[in-house]
Amino acid sequence: MRVLISGASIAGPVLAYWLESYGFTVTVVERSPTLRKTGGHAVDLFKPAMDIAERMGLIDAVLAKRTGTERLGFRLEGSDRRHELNVGRLLSAVSDRHVEIMRDDLSEIFYDATRERVEYAFGDSIAALSEDDGGVDVSFEHAPERRFDLVIGADGLHSNVRRLVFGPESEFATWIGGYLAVISLPNYLGLRDRTEGITGVNRIAAVYSAAHLDDARAVFLLRTTQPLDYHYRDVARQKQLLREAFAGMGWEVPRLLSELDRTPAFYFDSITQLRMDTWSRGRVSLVGDAGYCPGPAVGGSTSLAVVGAYMLAGELAAAGGDHTRAFPAYEREIGEYVRRSRAFAMGAVKQLIPSSRRGLWAIVAVSRFVNHTPLWLSRALSKLSNSGVRLHDSVRLKAEERSKVVGHEIGDAVGVDRAIHLDHPNP
Ligand SMILES: Cc1cc2nc3c(=O)[nH]c(=O)nc-3n(C[C@H](O)[C@H](O)[C@H](O)COP(=O)(O)OP(=O)(O)OC[C@H]3O[C@@H](n4cnc5c(N)ncnc54)[C@H](O)[C@@H]3O)c2cc1C
Repeated sequence: MRVLISGASIAGPVLAYWLESYGFTVTVVERSPTLRKTGGHAVDLFKPAMDIAERMGLIDAVLAKRTGTERLGFRLEGSDRRHELNVGRLLSAVSDRHVEIMRDDLSEIFYDATRERVEYAFGDSIAALSEDDGGVDVSFEHAPERRFDLVIGADGLHSNVRRLVFGPESEFATWIGGYLAVISLPNYLGLRDRTEGITGVNRIAAVYSAAHLDDARAVFLLRTTQPLDYHYRDVARQKQLLREAFAGMGWEVPRLLSELDRTPAFYFDSITQLRMDTWSRGRVSLVGDAGYCPGPAVGGSTSLAVVGAYMLAGELAAAGGDHTRAFPAYEREIGEYVRRSRAFAMGAVKQLIPSSRRGLWAIVAVSRFVNHTPLWLSRALSKLSNSGVRLHDSVRLKAEERSKVVGHEIGDAVGVDRAIHLDHPNP
């Protein structure tokens, strides 16, 4: 069976890996001319995504690229006093297995694991999809038309496949009150294993580097009561909005803002949540941010993307490539994780970017608690709490499928029957 995946970031290559290993023939089309390697940001992989990386034989490669930024130094706006949060300890309480890694490093690891067995077409994009009983005719912006059995959108929050099949983004996107921007800049503070930042009412600025990076990344988080007025391609306007929003903030912020004119990589987006009742239609489905982004930077969306890709491939293998069975099974399997991630992100955006001085002091109180409470106690409390912080570790992964889809034949029934649905939480 031939599967076309749109998007070669995280969800796309993970899905390609598993589909190919189950015997599907996979093509990945990526709009960017090469693998996107500039100015990435740090993302978190929690236990189920780490377990999947292990099943892919990639855990050592992932750990070798960990950022190592375990400590966060911060000051409250209007005060020079520095507080510290042991982020490593905080995240250890959230998940039994966690790593922070730059998004582009992670993407490259997944890409390298698939590039020899999967066809990658860079610098192109799907222009139109036309489905009939036997498959999907796909026309591209550049390459000639081709036919596939299935098409999967792994093309992120602003997914092209979703737009073509389900309709405009505005029908599914809910802005949850925040914006974020990331820039690359020289590591002029000499940061290595820590992040330094400043937090004020409705705005946070921070800068960090990773052990193996020559430069640094500055992150700006902003909360507003009304959506900002800009076009997503209008970078000049986005930079202007950022300057206005962070005007008058002390510490290193004026210097960070001055880098806006020089930065080789600038990222700006709203913290938007996608809410779709279903992310499959006919022979097309969505995976990762394209289908269920809980909100960049606040919802653990990278882990969700890795887990979603693993589950989708597993269900397609278990169903011998029959999408009419596999897509609903995939949606049932990932659905609870998606719903809980959305709920978590709604709370996280409020707590992460406080809207009052009291909220700022709550961050200081939490950091003192985390720093001084024994890890076993923090873990026990987070397991007991109802806040959903342990949502990642509550995900149960099925065992790898053993059935193979060979050519256009459906995998042997015995294989399919025996393969599925062994609950295998601790491989
Ligand atoms: C500042 C910041 C911080 C973040 N922090 C975290 C975090 O701490 N933890 C976390 O879990 N997540 C975090 N995220 C989110 C995380 O980066 C994404 O959620 C994750 O990478 C999801 O992967 P994806 O493959 O679904 O989508 P994406 O990574 O968005 O990839 C989509 C891919 O599709 C490609 N594409 C787009 N349009 C087309 C097209 N028309 N045709 C072909 N290809 C196309 C894009 O070029 C891209 O390669 C953060 C995001 C940001 C911006």
